Amino acid sequence: MSLSSVSGVNIVGAGLAGSLLAILLARRGFKVTVYERRPDPRLMSANGGRSINLALAARGIRGLQLAGVLERVMKFAIPMRGRIVHEHDGAAALQAYGVRPEEVIYSVSRSELNRVLIDAADEMPNVAFRFGQLCLGLAYGKNALEMRDEGTGHIYHTDAQPSIATDGAGSAVRDSLVAREVATVREEPLDHDYKELTIPPRDGKPALDVNGLHIWPRGGFMLIALPNPDATFTATLFLARTGANSFEQLNSPAAVEAFFASEFPSARALMPDLLREFFEHPQGSLGTVYTKGWHLNGDVLLLGDAAHAIVPFHGQGMNCAFEDCAELDRLMGEHHNWAGLFEAFEHARKPNTDAIAQMALENYVEMREAVLDPEYRRKKAEAEALEKKDPNLIPRYSMVMFHPEIPYWQALAGFHRARSVHGDAKP
Ligand code: FAD
Repeated sequence: MSLSSVSGVNIVGAGLAGSLLAILLARRGFKVTVYERRPDPRLMSANGGRSINLALAARGIRGLQLAGVLERVMKFAIPMRGRIVHEHDGAAALQAYGVRPEEVIYSVSRSELNRVLIDAADEMPNVAFRFGQLCLGLAYGKNALEMRDEGTGHIYHTDAQPSIATDGAGSAVRDSLVAREVATVREEPLDHDYKELTIPPRDGKPALDVNGLHIWPRGGFMLIALPNPDATFTATLFLARTGANSFEQLNSPAAVEAFFASEFPSARALMPDLLREFFEHPQGSLGTVYTKGWHLNGDVLLLGDAAHAIVPFHGQGMNCAFEDCAELDRLMGEHHNWAGLFEAFEHARKPNTDAIAQMALENYVEMREAVLDPEYRRKKAEAEALEKKDPNLIPRYSMVMFHPEIPYWQALAGFHRARSVHGDAKP
């Protein structure tokens, strides 16, 4: 099926990737229908009014720029210059992310970002959003989508036109591809979970420096906090599910109090609502999803978390999903039929998404443990000094966060690499 013989494309999921992709496809002249299981997020308060944020870096910025929405997003993005590491004794110090002033990452509200992307897509005459529509997978014996209207319970099939599934880490479309033996999937759950908490303003002002990503690294676990435009911080506790120092043990207010008082006393002092939030907020799970076979002919494609969910420790899941959108758009200029396009997309992206999955897992150890190690700090300073002398010697972290022109697989392989804090030197 040639690209030009098709007028319409279905997208499953109006999350971050789905709404950005809708804009890019509409710009190429396709009539885009986006099916989303939730109600329209623009009409609701997200997460019961809680702010949840994400780190936006160069790869994500590139995707937003391509779609013409970067300016709108930058209005609520807060630059973070580096990690502010809080030691046990209360001492806190900035470890800058990059060697140049522009090498910052941004804290953005997930719900605001999603709303802006949906708004921008909705402004285009050839994009239609259908909220409250749950995708059940592929229709039996067909390559169309089977949908259920969540309001009426009515079950129907979409038009048989290419469908791109951006329905997230638990993708129903991916399940169908696996059931048809088109795809294989390996899910590797992490044995650490997370919980989001709040650091409210103090006397109307942010309680911490807003231009950094705060980390309280404690070896086997950590607390982090990112700033929000309303002067709050969203703090996230990453901790083992079971065993010593685990969520399982934090089963009473006294246990939570004692744990925070002993491990995070400086953060505890900034969290007046800790006990209520701890027991009201959900405990989230994390993991990596490795999929092979992202497409079914030219009819179906998985993209974003649906194809390759990763753990959040490099702050790259969304950035990588936006890079997927930009790459699909680029490949549309090179391919004339959908099957060839989808195949080329998987071929181009899979080595990169596998690489960032690995680097994201490695970065958990760096964040919760290595940042405290004097040897790590010495090597980091050395790598930065080298990069200042020769801009081609780029540390791996900077390649991932600030150099979208360097593919993830090259960052992992150590091309362009300064004497790295990760070991093997390979300029
Ligand atoms: P999603 O954003 O999950 O969107 C999927 C959409 O599909 C949703 O709207 C959902 O409602 C809809 N949907 C799902 N199933 C169906 C169905 N059957 N039918 C119809 N609709 C459906 N990434 C970063 O880049 N930086 C960060 O700092 C960062 N921090 C993170 C922190 C945490 C704790 C977690 C868990 C993730 C973090 N991520 C981060 C990763 C990021 O959230 C994801 O990679 C990103 O949201 C993927 O976008 P997506 O559009 O593929 O999926």
